[in-house]
Amino acid sequence: MRRLTVSLWRAVQGAGIRPLVARIAAELGLVGSVQNTPRCVSIVLEGPPLALARFTERLRAEGPASLELLATESEATGEYASFSIAESDLSGPCNIDALAPDTRVCDACMREHDERTDRRAGWALISCAQCGPRFTITTALPFDRDRTTMAPFALCELCVREYRSTTDRRSHAQAIACPNCGPDVRYEDRSGSIVARGRAAIELAIARLRAGEIIALEGLGGFQLLCDATRSSAVRLLRERKRRPEQPFAVLVADVRAAAELARVDPSEARAMLHASGSIVLLRARGSAIAPEVAPGLARVGVMLPTSAAHATIARAMAVPIVCTSGNLHEDPIVIDRTEALERLASIADGLVLHDRAIARRADDSVVQVVSGRTRVLRAGRGLAPMTFEVGGVDRLCAGGHYRAAPALVVDGRATLWPHVGDLDGPSARSAYDDAVRSMELLSKRSPLEFVCDAHPDYASSIAAEARARVERRPIRRVLHHHAHVGAVLAEHGHSASADVLGFAWDGTGLGPEADIAGGEALLVGDAGARWRWRMLPFALPGGDAASRDTRRSLAGALVACELPVDASLERFARLAGSSSASARTSSVGRLFDAVACALGLRERSSYEGHAAMELEAIADPSADEPFPFELDGRFIDWRPTLRAIVRERRTSDPAVIAGRFHHTLAAIVGAVCAREDTSTVALAGGCFANALLLERCEATIERAGRTVLSAERIPSGDGGLALGQAWVSATAARGMLDGVWRKSDVSGSPR
Ligand SMILES: [Zn+2]
Ligand SMILES: [Zn+2]
Repeated sequence: MRRLTVSLWRAVQGAGIRPLVARIAAELGLVGSVQNTPRCVSIVLEGPPLALARFTERLRAEGPASLELLATESEATGEYASFSIAESDLSGPCNIDALAPDTRVCDACMREHDERTDRRAGWALISCAQCGPRFTITTALPFDRDRTTMAPFALCELCVREYRSTTDRRSHAQAIACPNCGPDVRYEDRSGSIVARGRAAIELAIARLRAGEIIALEGLGGFQLLCDATRSSAVRLLRERKRRPEQPFAVLVADVRAAAELARVDPSEARAMLHASGSIVLLRARGSAIAPEVAPGLARVGVMLPTSAAHATIARAMAVPIVCTSGNLHEDPIVIDRTEALERLASIADGLVLHDRAIARRADDSVVQVVSGRTRVLRAGRGLAPMTFEVGGVDRLCAGGHYRAAPALVVDGRATLWPHVGDLDGPSARSAYDDAVRSMELLSKRSPLEFVCDAHPDYASSIAAEARARVERRPIRRVLHHHAHVGAVLAEHGHSASADVLGFAWDGTGLGPEADIAGGEALLVGDAGARWRWRMLPFALPGGDAASRDTRRSLAGALVACELPVDASLERFARLAGSSSASARTSSVGRLFDAVACALGLRERSSYEGHAAMELEAIADPSADEPFPFELDGRFIDWRPTLRAIVRERRTSDPAVIAGRFHHTLAAIVGAVCAREDTSTVALAGGCFANALLLERCEATIERAGRTVLSAERIPSGDGGLALGQAWVSATAARGMLDGVWRKSDVSGSPR
């Protein structure tokens, strides 16, 4: 007889692992125990060596794909007579990544939901050991019912029986409940009076949606706002009330077949939609199944499948796409409690569907797209984050950025990236950000020994980190924005940077090497530090950051740099471009996108970051692949020949062709820069690579040149992944900036 000690890591708590382990052990006649600990799931088994070997084989085959398994063998002690699920161990620091993410309702639960005789038939909150809320209901680790917001619901007799059974689908499911003993939904009007409960509440919501009204629905990680996506009047009303004039809305449909009626869905996109996270998937829209107001001017539409039985019932009954967007006002964080909902959403929604299972922490919808057959995360929220990567170094808090902010906490060398919080402009977003940071520290029971933030002193996340470093007398390190972007991609791919990687860091804004606005750089990044190699020729940006909302400013600055005449509407910006006090210098590729979009007459005002670039991508003809001219000059990429050609040709050429050729020009620039560098690996980082056409073309160019290309897949390419990059850069002191040009605003090692 031998003893096998096994520990299971990563997303193992709340995933039905313990009952699975107990069942396999019983079937193989093994004795021992399984236990949730604050860090992992720990198993002790005793029995014949062959049965022990069979156990690990079966666990790998039948457990979740992400399972990380560590096993050691020793002599058996004979202390066990049977196999049991032991009480959880509560001692010591916790691993946040032991906790499984929220999962959209599974097929087995939906079958029960639809089976009229099942005791959970029609229950809007049905879930099981394999699906439902986890992260968003957890108040502390390890994951057990009394440390979730399900704690107040005492189990009925039938639920107790299922829980204790070894064969039931809900064996040891910590969130087990039923309509008799668990939470349920209700419909409240705008004044907070309850109008209907249970199934009737969902039916009432469906009737109101059919009448063109707006419904706020409490989901897994927060509230969502719903309306009929085929009715222009309803979508316009939602935009008006939510104060979101143009940013695209996602739509909810019942199944992949319904998605295929409004967009092209290839097999890898169908897989992304069916993923347990229930993410929004960006698909290429077709036909006119949805009102044009849903995603104005864009070729892609975000589509999600039902995450809960309530979603599924509504989507099936409506039989049309339904707008399903975060329940918030303008840029505020997603609303998670009833008081807040009545305060903030009653002015947007005509009715609210609430449930009485409290949401312990917010998690907004995740957004992904498929590029070159691989899923790329654009926003890491519910179902995907928190997620953990090995980075090394001391326990530290990495603050992230200011836009699409998400912090990360490094504990024992593992960086956990928290779900997307949002833009930190308003007080409620900042308080949601503070909540996120507090949550990470409370759940992991660790406090940071060091703080890391962006080099931009005005980012709300930098200000918060600096304040804490000062109060707690801990060191703070400032990491340059674009260095962190490249670091994030390297961290995601577990790249040990023994050899330098050429990293393209292209985005809209971010503090650059000389306190300017960067975003068109190529860096050599490695363990010995980062060196600036190439940058887009800087040009004047009239009004500085104001240019991110007004593309005319970028165009005026770029035309002045090209010594081209500007027309009357741009004259005042061109004058500003001539003054160093009224304009910033930028090398940003995002602003070049703006300039080209404006030159083609696409858009003057951007109502969100990347707006004009997304429209330029939307109209681009991908087959127009002849690049415009450009030059590499010293360490600069001279894009002026490109813009001159575009200005010359815009009167005679189709804007779709010019837009396509502009994308190919940028890919050709990547190729030309690679040819001048001898690194075998090239990384593409920064928000510009959320542009699917640009990413695909750049990846293809690099691969054709025989280099390995790394880009963001599990984390957002833009600022949402910044905290992970900060974690990677700060893992060793040596990874700071080396080049003299960068040193001025370089990281520092001591508190201010
Ligand atoms: Zn289920
Ligand atoms: Zn029950």
